[in-house]
Amino acid sequence: MITEITTAKDLHKIDPVFGQVSFDNHEQIVFCHDKDTGLKAIIGIHNTVLGPALGGTRMWNYTSEWEALNDVLRLSRGMTYKSAITGLNLGGGKAVIMGDSKIDKTPEMITKFGEYVNSLSGRYITAEDVGTTTADMDRIREVTPHVTGISVEKGGSGNPSPVTAYGVFMGLKAAAKYQFGTDNLQGKKVLVQGIGHVGETLVEHLTKAGAIVTITDINEARLQEVGAKFGAKIYTGSDLYSADVDIYSPCALGATINDDTINKIKAKVIAGAANNQLANEQVHGKILMEKGILYAPDFLINAGGIINVYAEIVGYDTAEALRRTENIYNTTLEIFDFAKKNNMTTYQAALNMAQNRIDERKKENSK
Ligand code: NAD
Repeated sequence: MITEITTAKDLHKIDPVFGQVSFDNHEQIVFCHDKDTGLKAIIGIHNTVLGPALGGTRMWNYTSEWEALNDVLRLSRGMTYKSAITGLNLGGGKAVIMGDSKIDKTPEMITKFGEYVNSLSGRYITAEDVGTTTADMDRIREVTPHVTGISVEKGGSGNPSPVTAYGVFMGLKAAAKYQFGTDNLQGKKVLVQGIGHVGETLVEHLTKAGAIVTITDINEARLQEVGAKFGAKIYTGSDLYSADVDIYSPCALGATINDDTINKIKAKVIAGAANNQLANEQVHGKILMEKGILYAPDFLINAGGIINVYAEIVGYDTAEALRRTENIYNTTLEIFDFAKKNNMTTYQAALNMAQNRIDERKKENSK
């Protein structure tokens, strides 16, 4: 949370952009406004040492400009580390459009946003995120080449979710290997929270691998559908965090590992697709470590989606995207080893390894 300054006389107390915790040395922040279409957007370019800043555009009904700014800074910084740890030659960036995507979004607004992206001449490359669609990316493509995640019909890589799910499955298997001594999931009890685009495909991989899968979702119809399709059990208890499972896989929303839930968790592995699963990375990461619960860093194991859109930039094919996604297994194991050797949380280990890659490239670039 950022400090809210409500009266003009208090404004001098913080630096609204450079003083924010999430600012974290962003290279560039672009505020985009267009009166005619009602566009209000912010593009955050965190770091371009490894390559152009790639990250999706989120359209969300933020309650304040503060909230939007804080969100774009946090997400854009996250993209830097996600791409770095995954070995992609990409920097980190993200964009937010303020507004309700179901009510406020118009084709003209999206086109205008595309023009802003174009004005950055490739320093920022956009993609789909919450509140934007493949169709929006196709529209943006009409005014700029600096967009990924366009439809297959238009020569793009299409929906990234199946590749994301495959990467999560790889990270989850690596965590099982480290924690249980084998990545054979036969008979392992796995709870998947959220069976949307990613969760459903993950359930498919898990059931095929012989895991005993329990699913939970706020969408009852999907529960019935996915449960029947893959023979997964539907969670019926009153407190899913205390469920008696080996692996907990958060695939719905962030911050589910928090002060209220952390002491209930019986699972020995946490590995899922959701972004920002730890409400407080330092505090909750450390508690998990002390409790002997192995946490597979979310920003690494859910990187299949970005690997898939990266294919559009460098021109590799689906098979290569899957091969790179499969490598999440090895990187996850490396992170666990690094964390153990350095007595740090797995989250911190992933961050350090990502930062090392950026620092090394910076040194090479300055030679
Ligand atoms: P989605 O919207 O398709 O699915 C989310 C599912 O979670 C829905 O079925 C929804 O009903 C359910 N849900 C929402 N609130 C819930 C709650 N409180 N309890 C249980 N279920 C709840 O999203 P997705 O594309 O499958 O992505 C899942 C997560 O993975 C998100 O956090 C997303 O940010 C992250 N992620 C997705 C991708 C990708 O390629 N789609 C890539 C990286 C990260």
